[in-house]
Amino acid sequence: MITIQGKGVSAGVGMGPLYFYRRATATISRREVADTVAEWQRFKGAQTTAITQLGELAEKARAEAGDEAAMLFETHQMMAEDLDYEEAIEEKINGEKLNAEAAVRDVAAQFAAMFESMDDPYMQARSADVKDVSDRIVGILSGVVQGGIASDVPVLLAADDLAPSETVQMDKTKILGFVTAGGSGSSHTAILARTMGIPAIVGVGDALKPEYEGRTVIADGATGDVIVDPDDMTRDRMLKKRAEQLRLQRLLETLKGQPNETKDGKSIRIYCNIGSPEDLHAVDVNDGGGIGLFRSEFLYLNSKDYPTEDEQFEAYRKVLSGMDGKEVIIRTLDIGADKQIGYFNLPKEENPAMGMRALRICLTRPEIFQTQIRALYRASAYGKLGIMFPMVTSVWEVREAKRICTEVKRALKKEGIPYDEHVQLGIMIETPAAAIISDRLAKEVDFFSCGTNDLTQYTLACDRQNNDLGRFYDPHHPAVLRLIKLAAENAHKNGIWIGICGELGADLTLTETFLAMGIDELSVSPRAVLPLRNAVRMTDTRESAPRLLEAIEDEYPAN
Ligand code: PEP
Ligand code: MG
Repeated sequence: MITIQGKGVSAGVGMGPLYFYRRATATISRREVADTVAEWQRFKGAQTTAITQLGELAEKARAEAGDEAAMLFETHQMMAEDLDYEEAIEEKINGEKLNAEAAVRDVAAQFAAMFESMDDPYMQARSADVKDVSDRIVGILSGVVQGGIASDVPVLLAADDLAPSETVQMDKTKILGFVTAGGSGSSHTAILARTMGIPAIVGVGDALKPEYEGRTVIADGATGDVIVDPDDMTRDRMLKKRAEQLRLQRLLETLKGQPNETKDGKSIRIYCNIGSPEDLHAVDVNDGGGIGLFRSEFLYLNSKDYPTEDEQFEAYRKVLSGMDGKEVIIRTLDIGADKQIGYFNLPKEENPAMGMRALRICLTRPEIFQTQIRALYRASAYGKLGIMFPMVTSVWEVREAKRICTEVKRALKKEGIPYDEHVQLGIMIETPAAAIISDRLAKEVDFFSCGTNDLTQYTLACDRQNNDLGRFYDPHHPAVLRLIKLAAENAHKNGIWIGICGELGADLTLTETFLAMGIDELSVSPRAVLPLRNAVRMTDTRESAPRLLEAIEDEYPAN
């Protein structure tokens, strides 16, 4: 038995024979052509076929994995007909009298090198795309058919890395799991695998040897373990794990469309945390009831300069329209600490987690804040928006943020730009100060949302980035739970709602406790929605509430 450690990027257990993905590479001859007009026509024909194929792939991807996956192929379509790309190929065929296959290969190498040399990681990643598109055109020109798995039985597919088009074209009924040498959790293969529910492990390097082909392999996408020739005990253990996962998955599927209601009839809203408009598909397939936290930082992190009001407006509008009237809470800029952005030119700090971050930056540099608030209010006309301020410690900060909102609304009204008058304003409870003065803060806003990742960090004086702190960073600590309970009591006394959007919201060992506290909303990653709904529906708060609330004040659970 050989165990290899990779990075699990899509949970689930896959077991079966290992199969190495082989690429059909077209051997290209370089030759001079006499009839350049005919050769150009040959290229144009292949280009048209490629564009049609990519359109079909986009539709297949949309059906199997949603809009984000489909967009990938639509981008490839645009690349295939890009004018600069086409002109460079024309120059090779007409000017250098090169055959079409060699012309496409040369231009692909030239464009890929150009993308790779760019600073922006997004543009660098386009290098793989231009190669993928060009390989397709060369394949059509030379009659080589790409992809396919030459096996009658389902296999665990091993590859160095997989291009998006390769992943989508595969017959999924033949794939038990993916194991790739390279790749990352955010690679396209990982995204597609997660969306399609296929176990996947990346980054095993050269540990998978060609001689393992055909041997039985188990891939555990949750732990990242790849086991070659498992012994009987391991095989039994993993089969049980797989059966349990499948049972749970089937049960969860039946919960789609069901209410998040306890046995004694208490309801809780289960929303999703997202980081960009591309995550909306995951919210939809997992039946999220709304967005409880949209981390707006991605707009700033993906940009070389401050995103403009229009750019922000477009992103917010997309999310609000996409959610079709369901509630969307967008958090204003939360950078600083672990999220540094060069163009902000933030001063170097000894203690950045306690330094200039989030709302503190916004109130110190109101021009950045105003731009975001304007974009948010403009987008509010397209759905049900809530705006949430992060890293609050004092009442005056909230009043100042609200004042800026009022000014922005006044200006929009004057300019005749529509916005929703009923946008809710809320704050994150993620510092002990905010929880302790939550009685006063509750009089200022429409809702609270507990950011338990930071609340744990600041309450326990434990850097959330420091993995060595291990058990010292304990979100179950009674101090953290008491602060959440206190904020919940103060919220309800003042007639406002309270949610939890930190990781703790998805912790099923605390679901009963949060219900007992009367938490109104839990916002979690999309895949955690259905397990959480299941836990809510199993709970009877009449039995557990008094005992759990007492335990927080006393000892919880054995702390
Ligand atoms: C939190 O602190 O719990 C939170 C949700 O915000 P972030 O993780 O983005 O800091
Ligand atoms: Mg936080």
